[in-house]
Amino acid sequence: MDKYKVMIGLEMHCEISETNTKVFSSAENSYSELPNSNIRPIDMGFPGTLPTVNKEAVKMALMASMALGCKQPEYMYFERKNYYYPDMPKNFQITQETKPIPVGIYGEFEYYCGDEKKKVRINNIHLEEDAASSDHFSTYSVIDYNRAGVPLLELVTEPDFRSADEAVSFLETMRSIYQYANISEADSKKGQIRCDVNVSIMDKDLDENDMRNWGTKIEIKNVNSFGGVRDAINYEIKRQTELKEQGTYDQMEQQTRRWDEESMSTIFMRSKVDAIDYKYFVEPNIPKYKISKEWLDEIRKSIPRFANERMEEYMDKYSLSRYDATILVKEKDVSDYFEEVIKLGGNPKSASNWLTSVILGHLNKYDITIKELYLTPQMLVDLMEMVESGKISSKQSKEVLYKVLSEGKDPKTIVDELGIKQIGDDKMIRELVCKVLDEHLELIEEHRKGRNVFDYFVGQIMKATRGQANPKMTAQIIREEIEKR
Ligand code: ADP
Ligand code: MG
Repeated sequence: MDKYKVMIGLEMHCEISETNTKVFSSAENSYSELPNSNIRPIDMGFPGTLPTVNKEAVKMALMASMALGCKQPEYMYFERKNYYYPDMPKNFQITQETKPIPVGIYGEFEYYCGDEKKKVRINNIHLEEDAASSDHFSTYSVIDYNRAGVPLLELVTEPDFRSADEAVSFLETMRSIYQYANISEADSKKGQIRCDVNVSIMDKDLDENDMRNWGTKIEIKNVNSFGGVRDAINYEIKRQTELKEQGTYDQMEQQTRRWDEESMSTIFMRSKVDAIDYKYFVEPNIPKYKISKEWLDEIRKSIPRFANERMEEYMDKYSLSRYDATILVKEKDVSDYFEEVIKLGGNPKSASNWLTSVILGHLNKYDITIKELYLTPQMLVDLMEMVESGKISSKQSKEVLYKVLSEGKDPKTIVDELGIKQIGDDKMIRELVCKVLDEHLELIEEHRKGRNVFDYFVGQIMKATRGQANPKMTAQIIREEIEKR
């Protein structure tokens, strides 16, 4: 492997899920279990229907273009990509793939792969409409037009990734940006993200700036999970390296393959020789229109803080570790939750501890999102306050939290119901301590000789109070009373 250099270029498709309506139609842009419910005549390709551009979708596309460090066009226009397929009843897709200027023109984008900063050149990012989805059975197929016309962003990178890790780290960064910018849920499980992965290898010592030295591009179409992207890349690197070693690499045709989860391999679909001619031309039903500078400025100002920025902030402002900060910003909803807790007066450090340990563990275990969690930021703040004021111990607070989550009642109610409260009454603890000490005078002798009996006494008091004695106070009183004896 050391003899070869890997080149990977990505075409990442992400459905914009956060507009109210579709990109050229007034049908609702929302996920529906009921097939063919979010459709209008235009999504069905009925004659006489005309597209209307969704301004919100264009705005989101321009924002993505800015976040990627691309240049924005002066004019907006679209083109037709002509092909026949049942999932595309108009017989063309409205896109910006070749002739028109896309929403994002060449940019350079930095992302992290582990702790290493990497750079990728973005060829372009463009806005288009998604096709319908189809399901194939043995003797028939069914089509659901709900997806037809859903706004889709396609971003195309230069072949700058050198490993599966780099490619996947970039995809994860982009998913996070789409989520933080409220452009898309970017949920692979809902099919909102799909990637075409291009892989080739070339001799290590050749100059990669000379395109003539590049290897033959193998395109793997429609990989729909990041795990799939990683596996497909690694499989291709291995397959292509073997061809090199056998001396047959140069005979390999440029081709499109697909990733097969079952056999964990890429399978030949078609060679570039049978490439389809899409007969692109400018979409005549959408007039070219000028994008004002004011609008671009407005969009630029509304770009939110992304994960990296929030992470730095958590480390600087709240002294969180990089590790904890990384966990908190991984999902925007978790990060928002954390910020809400702080806004409500919660201590950042303990909020971070609650989230990264117990709460995220709970979400994982039950496969739910933080939005589905019964515990609201306010409830967490209440719970944290009860610990801080000494009403309950931190050990008890965990028990309370588990009950809150399992019984769906707020922390105050649980504390009342359980009758747990921390005993912070000096007189009461002192009485108990004296009783225990008097029963074990021989241990006090041993204590003076240097044996550690302290923990034993604390344990006895905790046992007697069912864990409710304030631990700090108990320790202090034991110390005082031993001194007296
Ligand atoms: P096509 O015209 O066949 O669609 P493009 O030049 O538009 O090809 O490139 C599509 C994608 O393939 C881009 O992401 C690009 O970076 C990537 N790519 C191009 N050539 C190679 C190569 N030799 N190896 C790996 N990826 C490549
Ligand atoms: Mg292309």
